[in-house]
Amino acid sequence: MKTLYSRFLIVTLLIITGSTIIGFLFSNSYYHQKVKPENDEKNMEIITGIASFAENQDDLDSYLVQMGSAGYQLYLVDSSGRGKFYGGEFRDKQLPESIVEQVLAGNEYHGMRNFPRETFVSGFFADELRNTVGTSFDYNGERYALFMRPDIELLFSEVHILLGWIVVIMLVLTIVAVLIAARMLVNPIRKLSNATHKVVDENFDVQLDIQRTDEIGQLADRFNHMTRRLGELDAMRKSFISNVSHDIQSPLLNIQGYARLLENDSLTSEEKQDYINVIKDETERMSMLSKQLLVLTSLDQKGKLEKKEAVDVTAQLKETIHKYRWLFEEKDLFVTYDLEEAVLSGDEAMLYAVWENLLTNAIKYNRPDGSIEISLKNKADEVAIEFRDTGIGMTPEEQELIFERFYRADEARTTEGTGLGLSIVNQVIDMHGGTITVESEQDAGTSFFVVLPKK
Ligand code: ADP
Repeated sequence: MKTLYSRFLIVTLLIITGSTIIGFLFSNSYYHQKVKPENDEKNMEIITGIASFAENQDDLDSYLVQMGSAGYQLYLVDSSGRGKFYGGEFRDKQLPESIVEQVLAGNEYHGMRNFPRETFVSGFFADELRNTVGTSFDYNGERYALFMRPDIELLFSEVHILLGWIVVIMLVLTIVAVLIAARMLVNPIRKLSNATHKVVDENFDVQLDIQRTDEIGQLADRFNHMTRRLGELDAMRKSFISNVSHDIQSPLLNIQGYARLLENDSLTSEEKQDYINVIKDETERMSMLSKQLLVLTSLDQKGKLEKKEAVDVTAQLKETIHKYRWLFEEKDLFVTYDLEEAVLSGDEAMLYAVWENLLTNAIKYNRPDGSIEISLKNKADEVAIEFRDTGIGMTPEEQELIFERFYRADEARTTEGTGLGLSIVNQVIDMHGGTITVESEQDAGTSFFVVLPKK
């Protein structure tokens, strides 16, 4: 497998090599175009100087020896073709006879300018007799040809070494830096990849310890957030299943038990009726549970409102109150309402379920001779609805949990219910962009405040 790390390394090395080659080709071409002719001209000036000085020397030989040690490689040819070298030695001492003849005839030799382009390493360094400039001068009545090039080794050897070191140090540092940078980049990604494997195995406890502010840090933060959320959802799913199984199991057991009792022939008709009533209640509870579960699942799937219609909330509230009037009477509850006219855009059936849930709760958790007040205020941008009862109330801890699925303050489940009503209410109001809050005092009463935006 090609790791990110090795890929990073290979790419960097390729970049270094590539840029070195390009840099070299560029400077080589620059040398041939610009530097080479200039260099030739500069050296031609020097050799002209040397030659004109040579003409006036007492001892030509020692003068040239001196020039040689001053950093020039020289080749002197007399008119009979005999040559002598001064200064640093040429690597290649070939020079066509015709060139010598031309120079002796009084022409300048521009070997540097005309040095072949093909040389891959810049011609500057070519230590050849052909790579020189040449001119002629007269000494003691005789004609001489003089060829010269600067002794690169003598003049530039320190610079050479220095430059070499700079390049080597730069290369080493670059590679080390790239190795470190690549590791820093790749390590958190490795951690992320390992953590993802754990999440696949349903281990949601993994939290990445990556403290960075860059994109990788953001990715790690989001990953942590995601696993935390997945963990919560997983826990919710498990508790949901266990709650549902429990809430189906207990009425089923009751039904089974009472059905078995009913098989007994010696029961009085009163006892029989009692058992039948229990069975009826339990089937009703199960039917309610499955209905609410269906509602919740469909709310979960929808996520947001599909259809919006004009809903006359005032009419809905009045209808709900009317529907449960018999229950108020049965429980000796006193109901008052003060409803302003209000029409909202939303889902009619869902909103109806909200009022029904809040009202039946106010009835269920009330006391004989208690009261319920319902009000609706139509404000500029929103509609505020309140359900106030004088029932059993809740502790602050209970208030925190009532919107959770299956939560019921009354663990003994003496009052009937599923613990799903308020979570449905909460979700519907949320889908309508509204809010629901609760205020309650134990043994004194409870108020639910619903605020729905008009737009
Ligand atoms: P349930 O089916 O149990 O009524 P809900 O989700 O409607 O489920 O309510 C959750 C819990 O909140 C109830 O079990 C009850 O303990 C508490 N609760 C809801 N409404 C009231 C209220 N008006 N007064 C007191 N407690 C309430």
